[in-house]
Amino acid sequence: MARKPNSHPDVLVSINPATLEPLGEVRLASAEEVRQAVRDAEAAFPAWAALGVEGRAKYLLRARDYILEHVDDICDLISKENGKPRLEALSAEVFLITDLITYYAKRAKEVLAERPIPLHNPLIRTMKSSKIVHEPLGVVSVVSPWNYPFSIPMSGIVFALLAGNTVVFKPASDTALIGLKIDEVLRKGGGVPDGVFRTLIASGRAMGTALFEPPVRKVVFTGSTDVGKKIQEVAARHLVPTVMELGGKDPMIVCEDADVDFASSGAVWGAFMNCGQVCSSVERVYVARALYDRFVALCVEKTGRLRLGQDVDHDVDIGPMANEEQLATMEAHVQDALAKGARVLAGGKRPPGLRGYFYEPTILVDVNHTMRIMTEETFGPALPIMPFDSEDEAVRLANDSIFGLTASVWTSNRERGEALARRIQAGTVTVNDHAYTYGICETPWQGMKESGIGRSHSDEGLLEMVFPKHINLDHSLPFLKRRMWWFPYSREAYEVQKMAVRAFVSLRNVPRFLVSVATRGDYRRTLY
Ligand code: NAD
Repeated sequence: MARKPNSHPDVLVSINPATLEPLGEVRLASAEEVRQAVRDAEAAFPAWAALGVEGRAKYLLRARDYILEHVDDICDLISKENGKPRLEALSAEVFLITDLITYYAKRAKEVLAERPIPLHNPLIRTMKSSKIVHEPLGVVSVVSPWNYPFSIPMSGIVFALLAGNTVVFKPASDTALIGLKIDEVLRKGGGVPDGVFRTLIASGRAMGTALFEPPVRKVVFTGSTDVGKKIQEVAARHLVPTVMELGGKDPMIVCEDADVDFASSGAVWGAFMNCGQVCSSVERVYVARALYDRFVALCVEKTGRLRLGQDVDHDVDIGPMANEEQLATMEAHVQDALAKGARVLAGGKRPPGLRGYFYEPTILVDVNHTMRIMTEETFGPALPIMPFDSEDEAVRLANDSIFGLTASVWTSNRERGEALARRIQAGTVTVNDHAYTYGICETPWQGMKESGIGRSHSDEGLLEMVFPKHINLDHSLPFLKRRMWWFPYSREAYEVQKMAVRAFVSLRNVPRFLVSVATRGDYRRTLY
């Protein structure tokens, strides 16, 4: 981890990745404090759940207003501790959350409302009815990464709280101060009661397993696939369900009918926003051979215009990487590609004169799938570009990955775009754009293959935070006091049920079945 604890083992020093200057110190929670937070959250659960969705929404709307009042401070802090320019902090972190709270504070009531289950069997539905009631789960743990340190945890926390759960939150150590800002937003700004929400700054390895075991009822983890698998193993031992939002290696396919100027701008933004440290950034591009040279030339030209540095005066496009480890992975992937025959057409090194974790936006060509930069998650400012000769080849290359988070297809023909989108193994495929749907709170965010399990955002993401309990009611008493499936069993009951089985298979048999049952005269005794 880049932000090493200083000489005191319980204190973490947060630093600015652009300048390497310290920003503040935070005390690390012990494993016992983590366990206590979970116990407190369990104790706070019944009262919070009893508030109802509208009662809980009021707290979140107050938190939203607090965010709006302090928007500049929040964007400043995100930029300083995480490195991204303030415009990205505003659009991809703050706006997303204020919008999500505004939309779901209203919509949650409808999504979480109980819903009747229409029963199709005429014998059952005359005496029974069924419904689903959405019950909060209890304690939910939210463990999040540093790359979107405000919007990623907040979206999980907001959904969990709105649905009636209490939350224990562990932010990434690299963005501990932003984690504490979230605590301030919810507890001071929103007035969320103590115990209902608790933030713990803790080292992932040292904090123990309390966030992944009962009484925690759901784990919402966002981070790398490797750590996600470890957490999944612990949770699985206790059958604690998880939402896992994990790594990606997102492909971009540029068809020969694409607008090459538009697509190259999309590729440069998709690969280099947040310095490429985006789970859904463009990590590999496949371009129809007819467009390849022009596309590469435009990407190189546009990349050359990007401004690197610390955002002091809103005149920077790309900030530093978040930590030394991430920088080392970026360098290792570029070196591996070069050793296997790739060529660098832009970037490919740390920029001279900048002290922090900077790396130049890098374009690579002559790449192939023997290279780490085409198969492993780089999570840095790399744009490797490869030509293809047929759509089948493009789809095969796009799907040649253990990951399946998002992907994009670029074409001037919408039907073609949709047909290709259906063939790509990814949780989201966008046509003529990339990754931006994270900002649309009503669409699902989800990974296929090793990119994750479950979903966040959207109605489906909200439903991850509740248990769909089934309640079945009886309407037959006091008229019918037996059930055809109860004791005693008899040949007669067997024959009647056999007729019923046949009748239900074919609706045409229903009248015959009813007549045969009715003519027995004693069908009530037999059935009930
Ligand atoms: P990470 O897996 O190293 O850490 C994520 C969180 O887990 C942090 O809070 C960390 O402190 C904690 N952690 C680490 N080891 C732990 C352990 N042994 N036990 C418990 N907790 C532990 O990921 P990162 O480096 O912070 O973030 C980058 C990764 O996150 C990338 O792989 C990226 O693709 C992924 N990510 C995915 C999404 C998505 O929506 N799919 C979004 C953002 C980031």
